[in-house]
Amino acid sequence: MAVSVLRAWGHGRGAFDVAQLHVRNYSGSSGGHYKVLVLGGGSGGITMSARMKRKVGAENVAVVEPSESHYYQPIWTLVGAGAKTVKSSRRPTASVVPSGVKWIKSSVQEVNPDKNTVRTADGQEISYQFLIVALGLQLHYEKIKGFPEAFEHPKIGSNYSVETVEKTWKALQDFKEGNAIFTFPNTPVKCAGAPQKIMYLSDAYFRKTGKRPRANILYNTSLPVIFGVKKYADALWKLVKSRDLNVNLRHNLIEVRPEKREAVFEKLDSPGETVAYEYEMLHVTPPMGPPEVLKGSLVSDADGWVDIDKNTLQHKTYPNVFGIGDCTNLPTSKTAAAVAAQSAILDRTISKVMKKEKPDKKYDGYTSCPLVTSYKTVILAEFDYNGEPLETFPVDQSKESRIMYHMKADLMPHLYWHGLLRGLWGGPGPYRKIMHLGMK
Ligand SMILES: Cc1cc2nc3c(=O)[nH]c(=O)nc-3n(C[C@H](O)[C@H](O)[C@H](O)COP(=O)(O)OP(=O)(O)OC[C@H]3O[C@@H](n4cnc5c(N)ncnc54)[C@H](O)[C@@H]3O)c2cc1C
Repeated sequence: MAVSVLRAWGHGRGAFDVAQLHVRNYSGSSGGHYKVLVLGGGSGGITMSARMKRKVGAENVAVVEPSESHYYQPIWTLVGAGAKTVKSSRRPTASVVPSGVKWIKSSVQEVNPDKNTVRTADGQEISYQFLIVALGLQLHYEKIKGFPEAFEHPKIGSNYSVETVEKTWKALQDFKEGNAIFTFPNTPVKCAGAPQKIMYLSDAYFRKTGKRPRANILYNTSLPVIFGVKKYADALWKLVKSRDLNVNLRHNLIEVRPEKREAVFEKLDSPGETVAYEYEMLHVTPPMGPPEVLKGSLVSDADGWVDIDKNTLQHKTYPNVFGIGDCTNLPTSKTAAAVAAQSAILDRTISKVMKKEKPDKKYDGYTSCPLVTSYKTVILAEFDYNGEPLETFPVDQSKESRIMYHMKADLMPHLYWHGLLRGLWGGPGPYRKIMHLGMK
């Protein structure tokens, strides 16, 4: 089951060639030529397909995506806590690809920006004039000893995969007595708040069901902080103290022994030292990294992330290549909210590049993380590249709020399916200005 999460896609390097923008003879079968080719049909890929359809016409846009299903991942936090169903997070990919846009149902195996071509797993060679890379990131459960087999045992769940999110809810319901442990890996992650949101929800669930006195709750994180932005970190420290939650900083999960129900952590500040905890419930946030196809690719930096300009989202070497979302090396937190703000900027950048003009709009790094703190409350963190709060509402958003919970649970899914994926939502920037009477 979880093994299927660990899909690996092939990758390779493209040979050098002078930029040629039209179809030629290929060794693979010709997959056609598109004015705009989008790689990945997740949040960023579908959003940009919709925006590009409006710009250049549906018949000139194609999106490469192997999966039959598209997921609204942010709701998995609530699925793991039993507050939403996994079904509500899924729609067929066919229903979200904008009508008229070509869906190439395969995975990308090689990106060759010197030839303006892409090769897919089923041997198609597709050429493009403009390329948008939106391949997301890859989960690496297998980097923790004992995984993915450990998922065959009860008491372990992970909200990060559709295959394992319901196991979190099962582990919560089955909880009797002991440690409930929540982990954060030693790699970049998507939605850096999600590993602790499920801890707050679990705490709330245990209180609701009378189990809380028998639960010892631990948040073992590789990070040296509870959250990267001080304003919200201060609020979260107060929260964990008031709810009797134990935070162990610089603890990285390296092994799980499910027969003994033991989780082993390395202490990152004391090299070579490990500590094992027994658990009654374990929520795992896996190590993450760039998709296989991008590692060592010409469009990627040394770490494998798409190497783009942080202001314009245009590739640093290939001016007809762009990136959006989790697969990029933008120095901001990887979220769907960030994808929304990036999509508006990228739309503008591509318009300018198509007209051979200089891109003029700059992405400020806007990202957002609704920190769910119970079944009723959310702290809505919003910030920029500098880790400075960039709040939409004229209230102190570091305070727990019921309205923000409804926004997260009820409003955001609609905004995602009907606004973002249709290329109609570019983040709250314009509303922030209005809310703050033009002062922000
Ligand atoms: C538990 C959880 C909670 C979250 N909570 C929030 C939240 O509260 N707020 C928020 O804003 N964000 C949240 N996020 C993060 C958000 O879902 C992601 O940041 C967002 O989906 C990124 O969009 P993307 O397009 O970059 O990647 P994705 O949406 O992951 O899409 C990548 C796509 O690329 C495809 N792909 C991969 N490899 C290939 C290949 N070789 N060829 C072709 N296609 C390929 C994949 O199949 C996938 O469809 C959460 C995520 C999780 C898991």
